[in-house]
Amino acid sequence: MTTKNPEYDFKWCPGCGDFGVRRALEFALNARNEKHETRMRDNVIVAGIGCSGNLVHLMESDEQPFGIHGIHGRTLPIALGVKSGSPDSNVIIVAGDGDFLSIGMEHIGPQAQRNLNVTAIIMDNGVYGLTKGQSSPTSTFGMVTSSTPFGKIETPLNPLSFYLEIGVSFIASHYSSKPRELAALIELAMEHNGFSIVHVQSPCTTYNDTYEQLKGSKRKGIEPGIFDLPEDYDASDREQAVKLIADGRVPLGLIFKENRPTLGDQYKSMAGRAPAKASPEKILATYAL
Ligand code: SF4
Ligand code: MG
Repeated sequence: MTTKNPEYDFKWCPGCGDFGVRRALEFALNARNEKHETRMRDNVIVAGIGCSGNLVHLMESDEQPFGIHGIHGRTLPIALGVKSGSPDSNVIIVAGDGDFLSIGMEHIGPQAQRNLNVTAIIMDNGVYGLTKGQSSPTSTFGMVTSSTPFGKIETPLNPLSFYLEIGVSFIASHYSSKPRELAALIELAMEHNGFSIVHVQSPCTTYNDTYEQLKGSKRKGIEPGIFDLPEDYDASDREQAVKLIADGRVPLGLIFKENRPTLGDQYKSMAGRAPAKASPEKILATYAL
């Protein structure tokens, strides 16, 4: 797959949505680097376990970003460590619905409350693809998978609603087949000062091919599952975001954004209030964010 990592030999299935996300991330990183006059190595990608996590090995350009392929469900604790140790790096998480929203779910709340200044790109295909198609938190009710042969009996999670409730300060939603539009949204998320999540519908052509449901089919009478935001939509209005998400289909764009201090901002302010013997320099050196 990549000339940069010839020792790393794996393949994504033809048509996998993650190809579009990889391309979008590459566009977005190149644009950001140009704008801020930074290098690819000023970016760090923290990957979860799953087909989506393999994206970290596939970033191809003259220079590559740093990458960490961590452990299942723990992208956020790793990202916290990376951002603490290297506060000037642009930290991006790439993970799937299984990794991020199942085993990894317990980490979303704390980082949302801290407003950790990182960007998470979640590739949602509604299954565990790498381990051969088991049901995930976003698999639909009644869905037959290798782990639910008589149909899923749990109510599926609505990730956008969950992110909003738990305090994520930037929430966007998109679709892997529109890489240029997705890139613009990822770039916006990386510019956000705080915890940003871009939740991407990224179909798994092998275990849960949802392209037709997302795009729709006039011939088969299937209405598109994706929709553009109304022109007068205001992403700073929480009530509008609640109503938009309640639609149940997949909105394309920035759903919610609020500005509030990041974890790094709070540390700096705390350091200013600390007594003299705990000097600001010492605190900042310990929690450099
Ligand atoms: Fe993509 Fe699904 Fe194949 Fe994994 S199993 S590479 S998610 S199509
Ligand atoms: Mg998945």
